[in-house]
Amino acid sequence: MELLRGAIRTYAWGSRTAIAEFTGRPVPAVHPEAELWLGAHPADPARLQTEDGEVSLLERLAADPDGQLGAASRARFGDGLPFLVKVLAADEPLSLQAHPSAEQALEGYRREEQLGIPVTSPVRNYRDTSHKPELLIALEPFEALAGFRPAGQTVELLRALAVSDLDPFIDLLNDQSDADGLRALFTTWITAPQPDIDVLVPAVLDGAIHYVSCGATQFAAEAKTVLELGERYPGDAGVLAALLLNRISLAPGEAIFLPAGNLHTYLRGVALEVMANSDNVLRGGLTPKHVDVPELLRVLDFTPTTEAQLRPPTHRDGLELVYDTPADEFAVSLLTLDGHSLGHEVDAPARHDGPQILLCTEGCTTVSAKSGALTLERGMAAWVAADDGPIRLAARRPSTLFRATVGV
Ligand SMILES: [Zn+2]
Repeated sequence: MELLRGAIRTYAWGSRTAIAEFTGRPVPAVHPEAELWLGAHPADPARLQTEDGEVSLLERLAADPDGQLGAASRARFGDGLPFLVKVLAADEPLSLQAHPSAEQALEGYRREEQLGIPVTSPVRNYRDTSHKPELLIALEPFEALAGFRPAGQTVELLRALAVSDLDPFIDLLNDQSDADGLRALFTTWITAPQPDIDVLVPAVLDGAIHYVSCGATQFAAEAKTVLELGERYPGDAGVLAALLLNRISLAPGEAIFLPAGNLHTYLRGVALEVMANSDNVLRGGLTPKHVDVPELLRVLDFTPTTEAQLRPPTHRDGLELVYDTPADEFAVSLLTLDGHSLGHEVDAPARHDGPQILLCTEGCTTVSAKSGALTLERGMAAWVAADDGPIRLAARRPSTLFRATVGV
């Protein structure tokens, strides 16, 4: 078991304070820090702190795949770590995006290889052959747009904005209140000629201003989000597309699970994200990065979904709150030490005997494994190799840590 130092990704939408504060570095950071990657993705592996200095987790896995990953994980996922853990800190909205299914990722990767697009090119969509199911758990209040809201509710929202330019689109969705109607409306907007967008977006923003200033409450959060996106990305069809998605507010500990094809964008907040070890993103707007609308349309799932359907069920198992997701690559739980579990060592076996990544989010916990013990404070992470578990935990004050391991 070793301390794991995450790789910091600096993107314009990141925070100069959240990740720096979380990991105990000076605030404000020099650059906006968007993501802290705790994993073995080839683009940015985390580093193990050993007695002989730092070692890339990727190199460690290559040198000792059986000991680090264990036979069960290797048999299913080969010699790579199947999941990636991130701390995400958004001060501004991220791009409107979706991730491919496993079949789409493999097909897209092969297609782009054949076309000779370098894997590092900014116009490359598929950087690996994996799908990217994603579980997001709020660490601080977190705001997101995700999944196509049931069409009937979207019709209500569009009507509430009282914008006559929206009438034909309201009719379209009202006549076909299902996945096909949502596909037709989304496709119409996201592929509309710029002059049309330049008329429709300002009209919608005007409607949203009136809606909010009249003190209407039912869709106030949706209207404010559209105003915010419109200010940040004027003339972007993604502002209209945002009208179709569930507006979700998560309190700390609450989560959403995003399967393949789910259209989403994160608006603001700090969260833990655990996903299959992939970087495959298809973007449809709200970003200066590469946007590929035809490819996005190929992977999107327009099946209407409610916010409640996106929130994964949880169950308690001793110290552990388990987030139940259908993902094979990862399993995530929150371990809480308080009350009777303080002041003595407690067993914390994982449900899978593969590797574990632990991230302390509160308090101070001593983790013991076969190779020895480590004390984790808030913002510190540890790597527990497959042959080093199971672990035991001890804390003197209330403490929480997240555990990511291979799915069962
Ligand atoms: Zn995503």
